[in-house]
Amino acid sequence: MIIATGTASGKSLAYQVPALSSVLDGGTALYLTPTKALAADQLRALEALDVPGLRAAAYDGDTPYEERAWIRRHANYVLTNPDMLHRGLLPGHARWSGFWRRLRTVVVDECHGYRGVFGSHVAQILRRLRRVCTRYGSSPVFVLASATASDPGAFATRLTGLQTAEVTTDASPRGSITFALWEPPLTDLRGEGGAPVRRPAAAETADLLADLVLDGTRTLAFVRSRRAAESVALSARARLSDLASGMFSRPSPGMVTPPPPSRTAPASLTSLADLPGRIAAYRAGYLAEERRGLERALRSGDLLGLATTNALELGVDVSGLDAVLIAGWPGTRASLWQQAGRAGRAGQDALAVLIARDDPLDTYLVHHPEALFGRPVEAIVLDPGNPYVLGPHLCAAAAEIPLTEEDLEIFGPTSKEVLASLVGDGLLRRRPSGWFWTRRERATDLADIRGSGGAPVQVVELSTGCLLGTVDESSAHTTVHTGAVYVHQGETFLVTELDLEAGVALVEAGTPDYTTFARDVTEISVLESFRSHPLGPGELHFGSVEVTRQVVSYLKRRLQSGEPLGDEALDLPPRTLRTRAVWWTLPASAISPLAEAGLDLGGAAHAAEHASIGMLPLFATCDRWDIGGVSTELHADTGMLTVFVYDGHEGGAGFAERGFSRALEWLTATREAIASCECERGCPSCIQSPKCGNGNEPLDKAGALRLLAVLLSMNG
Ligand SMILES: [Zn+2]
Ligand SMILES: [Zn+2]
Repeated sequence: MIIATGTASGKSLAYQVPALSSVLDGGTALYLTPTKALAADQLRALEALDVPGLRAAAYDGDTPYEERAWIRRHANYVLTNPDMLHRGLLPGHARWSGFWRRLRTVVVDECHGYRGVFGSHVAQILRRLRRVCTRYGSSPVFVLASATASDPGAFATRLTGLQTAEVTTDASPRGSITFALWEPPLTDLRGEGGAPVRRPAAAETADLLADLVLDGTRTLAFVRSRRAAESVALSARARLSDLASGMFSRPSPGMVTPPPPSRTAPASLTSLADLPGRIAAYRAGYLAEERRGLERALRSGDLLGLATTNALELGVDVSGLDAVLIAGWPGTRASLWQQAGRAGRAGQDALAVLIARDDPLDTYLVHHPEALFGRPVEAIVLDPGNPYVLGPHLCAAAAEIPLTEEDLEIFGPTSKEVLASLVGDGLLRRRPSGWFWTRRERATDLADIRGSGGAPVQVVELSTGCLLGTVDESSAHTTVHTGAVYVHQGETFLVTELDLEAGVALVEAGTPDYTTFARDVTEISVLESFRSHPLGPGELHFGSVEVTRQVVSYLKRRLQSGEPLGDEALDLPPRTLRTRAVWWTLPASAISPLAEAGLDLGGAAHAAEHASIGMLPLFATCDRWDIGGVSTELHADTGMLTVFVYDGHEGGAGFAERGFSRALEWLTATREAIASCECERGCPSCIQSPKCGNGNEPLDKAGALRLLAVLLSMNG
């Protein structure tokens, strides 16, 4: 069963009833969540219920070893995450035999987080779980809980491999929400190629937060990073301090008057001086006590404004707010509604504001409310059949219990072929009784369920030897190459050396007055087109490709002005990626009139590529960093002008496929996004991309509009 209803609609009650009945009946229950923090909160909520006979415990990387044996033997309600299930519970299933034998209910909470490659891994882990249960004679019911998703039943079936019943009716009481779409103004600042730059979403959010707090409105501001949470809270406080000390003369750039809910009284002049202290920042990593403290302060109205990353979605229970500010499109309509749903929960009216960032998708959305309202939320995309995901899990499954022919049904239609190649690679051995894992290593080490292949590169501070963090192997070349400026939790470091062999980037603290941008050369070749159909005078394809990407240099830019300070060459090996792509072509006959009209076809295709990458997240649950693109006036494999958009993960993740199936809407929205931006020649809100390996050269805005009009057979 999947329960897909809004925030605070009572989902946890709906899954705790079957889970706790299992326990009361002498069975066991397993609760899965993507984060340890949420598991800890759930555990506390469970303990507060004081159910007789309930022995609940969290079992994750933080659980002390001395407690683990007790939990395995005695706990009847275990809270864990997919990582621990993958590395701990399933490989060590024999030690959990009593738990599996009595397992009646598996709760998969916040399951909309299981998308893309990570979701595909989790889908295979759940299949391994089902197989282990079968071995011990149990067949638990799976209860999934999610924020609203389109077609939740189909998603749940893809995730678990089981037939699913949907619960989608949300009858919880709710007031009305006034929704504002807010586009920050263009400033006099100039960015890449002299493009105009908008006022940052975070700065606008800080002003709005201060204005709302001044009005006595309890407000939550959602921002994208920890750093932004701190800076929004800080600038909102500063704005209020200025006001309190009478230094404030500038009129606020915009006041939003929320509907009048039953809220705290507007700040009187006497309490003006206290207002800055009633705004705080919240981010992941706070202790449970600190979170509880913030919750209490918000509930009591001692705290009027809180700036937060979406860490709040997972861990803090806040309700009864008057307004929610959302700085930047949160990625999906589902998370937009989830964040907006924090406001006005007890049936009161409320205000929500989406503040656009300087990128094509945000721009498009604030100009096209119809893309947000009265639309179903997006489908959650995953591809459990991806051989790069399936292979390691088949090995792990074989190591758990040798695989038999009957098992292949659980792992899906591609498993037969993948098994054959695993045998060919010497990872598995076929015997009459099944397939066996014969290596000494742990099979589970083959699957990197949260990463994207390869061991992560460790970022180490040279002077102290301190490990600052890790960077995915796939992005190390662009983010921690020698000479790169690396920002870690608001502090700036310079990479003195990237040692790929050792998997280490050595950094030193510094305050350079420039930033760095890696430049790369990307080539793409078509391996196979799986599906295709005509699109206007051209063709649309979905298929497999090989992408070869080499970071060749980096550009330094002055911090404030963005002024280029020159290129430095780098000596890094090319990386190849076999993945899935969607691509469209236009024949010479269709584009020659454009070339004759003096259009820069390469710049037009490049601009269309950038904008379409920016827009794909509206149709597939990915963000623009999950996908890449290549465009060319003449591609060797197609013999035509071609624009490719590919999944940035080995084997693909389902995003390009989704683009193929929604191509007409996707490319129409792309053209709309470019057309509705008021800049003249292109800016970050439309055709410039922050991750362009070519320094956003060449780009032709007018050309992109004409090119897409031809492709979509419009009169452009
Ligand atoms: Zn623009
Ligand atoms: Zn580019």
